[in-house]
Amino acid sequence: MSIPELYQYYLSFPNICTDTRKIERNSLFFALRGENFDANAFAEQALEKGAAYAVIDNPDFKKSEKYLLVEDSLSTLQQLARYHRQQLKIPVIGLTGSNGKTTTKELINSVLSQKFKTLATKGNLNNHIGVPLTLLEIGNDVELAIVEMGANHQKEIELLCSICEPTHGLITNIGKAHLEGFGGIEGVKQGKGELYDFLQAHQGTVFVNDDSPALNEMLKTRNFVKLVKYGTDASNQVMGELLSNEPYLKIRWTYPRGTFEVQSQLTGIYNFENILGAIAIGLDFDLSPAQINAGISNYAPKNNRSQISKTEKNTVIGDYYNANPSSMVLAIDNIAQLKATKKVLILGDMFEVGESTAQEHLNVIRKALAYPFTQVIFIGKHFKEASSQVNALFFTDTDEAYNHLKHQRIEDSLVLVKGSRGMRLEKLMELL
Ligand code: ATP
Ligand code: MG
Repeated sequence: MSIPELYQYYLSFPNICTDTRKIERNSLFFALRGENFDANAFAEQALEKGAAYAVIDNPDFKKSEKYLLVEDSLSTLQQLARYHRQQLKIPVIGLTGSNGKTTTKELINSVLSQKFKTLATKGNLNNHIGVPLTLLEIGNDVELAIVEMGANHQKEIELLCSICEPTHGLITNIGKAHLEGFGGIEGVKQGKGELYDFLQAHQGTVFVNDDSPALNEMLKTRNFVKLVKYGTDASNQVMGELLSNEPYLKIRWTYPRGTFEVQSQLTGIYNFENILGAIAIGLDFDLSPAQINAGISNYAPKNNRSQISKTEKNTVIGDYYNANPSSMVLAIDNIAQLKATKKVLILGDMFEVGESTAQEHLNVIRKALAYPFTQVIFIGKHFKEASSQVNALFFTDTDEAYNHLKHQRIEDSLVLVKGSRGMRLEKLMELL
């Protein structure tokens, strides 16, 4: 079945499902293959649960006209998304980078939705399946889309760009994330740089954080039709100044027509550049400073990314959605600067660090212990392995730490909880 033919089915049944547990009536089911499953086998169930049609790529499962047979379901999903994107004559802002993509995306969406009907990636659906699903969610009424693109190896951003065809783009930063798959920091630059390459080839607009030496270096070999820079230096189109971080960021920003201040609901100095990026994009889309500031100040994270909560006993910075060497170091520097009498760090292992795992965990241990924190707790086998010469509290896993904290409660403290998703540090929250 050709893509234009399949597109007619999509127009009648624009609700796409890939998970039989979440089938909605009159949806279009795509049977994707995973490492451990082949969803062709679930197509029948999807139809029973109310899907209008099931796209399959194994002829053995075709039992009626309700099964739409294609060569490869995943690539068909991606091509269908690209075809749909090409019918839409709207700007698409593509976002990638090592850290801060989701936060920046939410901020941009909060800003631009003050003026436009927007659609942004839901949650963290930023991969080769999530990006096409995001695009296929764009209805006729949407005026502008914001698409998060994640990658942990080369050519992934190139593929995602070929699907969502961004007209505008922003790389949040280049950091030590997914080092394993990218092959070191130069590999990260190359992989993320695929967004710049696409925008250069298609006359797109690029927004660049001028305070990032790595991004500036990546600009040297490229030429853009339109480049908007933001940062702390006055030479930038949008200049920002951090006024306060206690515990929420307050920012002063200046552009050629004036200077404004905005109070955010975000903590973490690293969010300064995320906010500034969203301001730069708001200005480029002709929002007024009041609209931009409303968008920034309205946004409060609810996604365990630097989310502050006040419990009965403590104030907790919950940042256990993810962790990598760059964001870990910044989070430690951040809590070090906040005002509190007692400060406690609970740090979980960082995954996907590759061959520098031991070294990076040791760096974090040293970094954390160099500050006079009240207590630092390390959880996970990577920390434990890197810890031989250090005198601090180490636990092999979160359960072990849980049992300890149950008896030795943390009280009256500002607590940072950060680690990779797989560490499941959220389990500790009930004890804090
Ligand atoms: P993922 O790769 O999981 O999609 P992401 O790039 O979308 O991550 P966020 O989810 O926005 O990133 O943020 C995750 C954590 O990264 C934050 O809680 C914070 O600790 C850190 N972080 C956010 N912004 C930055 C930044 N600009 N620089 C460094 N670290 C950041
Ligand atoms: Mg994300």
